[in-house]
Amino acid sequence: MAAIVLSKLNKHYGSLHHAVKDVDLEIADKEFVALVGPSGCGKSTTLRMIAGLEDISGGEIRIGGKVVNNLPPRDRDIAMVFQNYALYQHMSVYDNLAFGLRNKKVPESEIKAGIDRAAEILGLHELLKRKPRQLSGGQQQRVALGRCIVRNPLVFLFDEPLSNLDAKLRAQMRIEIKRLHAQVPTTSVFVTHDQVEAMTLGDRVVVMRDGRIHQVGTPLAVYGKPVNKFVAGFIGAPAMNFLEVTIRKEAGTVVAESPVLKVAVTEPSSVALEAWQGRRVIMGVRPEHLVLGEGLLSRSFAAKVEVVEQLGSEILLESRVGDARVTVARVPPETAIAAGDQVRLSAQPGRLHFFDPESENVIAA
Ligand code: ADP
Repeated sequence: MAAIVLSKLNKHYGSLHHAVKDVDLEIADKEFVALVGPSGCGKSTTLRMIAGLEDISGGEIRIGGKVVNNLPPRDRDIAMVFQNYALYQHMSVYDNLAFGLRNKKVPESEIKAGIDRAAEILGLHELLKRKPRQLSGGQQQRVALGRCIVRNPLVFLFDEPLSNLDAKLRAQMRIEIKRLHAQVPTTSVFVTHDQVEAMTLGDRVVVMRDGRIHQVGTPLAVYGKPVNKFVAGFIGAPAMNFLEVTIRKEAGTVVAESPVLKVAVTEPSSVALEAWQGRRVIMGVRPEHLVLGEGLLSRSFAAKVEVVEQLGSEILLESRVGDARVTVARVPPETAIAAGDQVRLSAQPGRLHFFDPESENVIAA
């Protein structure tokens, strides 16, 4: 069993910089958790504290029930994959894979069995005699993963391991890591600034900003029910649109309106907004939840198309609604539309999000 429990974890760099603030997080045995957030939000520092590569300033870290606060990295039974692979250049792939085990005086026959298994899982057999410089970036990263598997650790820690790869290879390695986790279920923490990577890999996603956790949830939960405007804007691509509106009630219906739009609000948002009548709030709607055309008249508004991006599979529209920029996704690719066109947009029912303009927290019932 290798659950990881972080309790009130803090990190200060010197007296000025508070990089990780009161982080509480429970990662279940064999769970794959992705830490995601913008650069500088404290995700690598958190990972490095779990690894023991960084001292903690306060709080507690438990791995498999044991407090590891003062345990050196080699005694934590973790394996770490870095962005720069960290392979020994003068050694063959086989010797790179064997290195950690030889240090632990594991018998050669056992080492060979472990390497055979890792090579099988990752398709490394034909590369075992090569030196790292004779490998592509993707192959080097697979060797780095192999080195983790042969050690059979309690925990895998990944620090932006795919950032050096091109987009296509990144997508392939994502699938390999997912397959690896299915074959060798091991508690894993994966740090990335890429929300697509976090969403596709994580059983749960942890969204961080300024040293704090803002939301922990399944990919569907952080996408569908973001707790605040930051998470709403960070998760999902293209990013959620935000519009300033005032809440009113008309003939029993809650409406969100501004000088340039009026949208009828359905449940559950309408219930949450009862108490906000006459007040300004921020309305969020994802590009993929807007459709071109009248839709329901009570939910549509006018927009001016500024840029048309034809992707072949869909059209992305950049438009303007009053002062606000509004992106529309998943417009059918054969739609006849051009920059300068006046169109109507409608929001799909139940897909509007509302945020308190002060706290930026979601307005919930
Ligand atoms: P992330 O991985 O989310 O990009 P980091 O955990 O690397 O962020 O860094 C969090 C914050 O701590 C950043 O503001 C960074 O500048 C600062 N920081 C990281 N390492 C050090 C260090 N060794 N000394 C001082 N400040 C640091």
